[in-house]
Amino acid sequence: MRTFQKSSKLDNVCYDVRGPVLDEANRMQESGIDILKLNIGNPAPFGFSAPEEVILDMIYTLRESQGYSDSKGIFAARKAIMQYCQLKKIPNVSINDIYTGNGVSELINMAMQGLVDSGDEILVPSPDYPLWTGCVTLAGGKAVHYICDEQSEWYPDVEDIKSKITDKTKAIVLINPNNPTGAVYPKEVLQKIVDVAREHELMIFSDEIYDRLVMDGITHTSIASLAPDLFCVTLNGLSKSHMIAGFRCGWMVLSGAKEKGKGYIEGLNMLSNMRLCSNVPAQAVVQTALGGYQSVNEYLVPGGRIYEQREFIYNAIKDIPGLSAVKPKAAFYIFPKIDTEKFNIHDDEKFALDLLHEKKILITCGKGFNWGQPNHFRIVYLPNVEVLGKAADKLADFLTTYRQK
Ligand code: PLP
Repeated sequence: MRTFQKSSKLDNVCYDVRGPVLDEANRMQESGIDILKLNIGNPAPFGFSAPEEVILDMIYTLRESQGYSDSKGIFAARKAIMQYCQLKKIPNVSINDIYTGNGVSELINMAMQGLVDSGDEILVPSPDYPLWTGCVTLAGGKAVHYICDEQSEWYPDVEDIKSKITDKTKAIVLINPNNPTGAVYPKEVLQKIVDVAREHELMIFSDEIYDRLVMDGITHTSIASLAPDLFCVTLNGLSKSHMIAGFRCGWMVLSGAKEKGKGYIEGLNMLSNMRLCSNVPAQAVVQTALGGYQSVNEYLVPGGRIYEQREFIYNAIKDIPGLSAVKPKAAFYIFPKIDTEKFNIHDDEKFALDLLHEKKILITCGKGFNWGQPNHFRIVYLPNVEVLGKAADKLADFLTTYRQK
């Protein structure tokens, strides 16, 4: 019998945030067991919704959005993104430097497919949003992980970055604000990374999808704004800031020394043409979304849901013996550390499975974010405080007796 296997291109590609533990949770759910899901950064199911004007705009423009658009996107969306870049001080961006995508996800894949040759090395953070590692690998490259340091607020360890550069290194990826740590990188750290990229002639990719979800009065800096002489690619989108992850709306912006990337840009244009265009109804809301009322801001201040949920989960984690965490400053994730000796943890995926089986709580283990040790896991704190409270109680209860076998 002829059978069909997955392509060998996929052999080393991992995307464990939707991996085996989630499969098991889904199996349990299908058999009628209620699972408390703290695993996916998707605001809408937790009672967050887009500003009304964004929804109205989509309804209003739906009839005119039936056809394909220019492959990079409609003018109004790209103009609004260009103006957003001006506010973020991202230099040398014209309409033609902007590509809309079916979420940032599509563009991460496109950006890596267009750049990476077999054996090329791309510096990727650890922990990372694992699509970056997956797409570098799928493109035939090697994701070389640099450490983000928990002792320093989870900022990138610049010495580690330097030590991992070889003559095959083509680019460095930043995720700022970061998923899963919730860190926001200060200017001084970004400046050091720019200096390293300049010295070694690296391209910079910066995934800034959480830049409108920053708390505590911190101002987000786009690394591209500090690197007018380097070739930078900045990615962003509306999935999180406008709670419309399902609409699939993202963009990618080329900036700085674009003359260095002439060949690459040709490749990007071809890939962009090959997928015809991104979802047009979603593009049609970009102008309203970026220019209009930013309802997300109300969630991020004292009294607002995301802020209060962060306070709650951070304090709850701190109070559980054997757990600790750096307080996240952005997004809606916390990445607690777990005392591996106390609980004899040697396999964090098993830890996640044990918690799932015993307490029906779904978290994502550090391995899912390319974190090298079995001592971290991620909680999505989008559920309301009542639900988070139940989760924290169950987690505490679970850990009072847990010893991994
Ligand atoms: N980048 C980061 C850091 C993310 O956390 C996510 C989603 O969780 C994405 C990109 C993908 O977002 P999109 O919905 O725009 O594809």
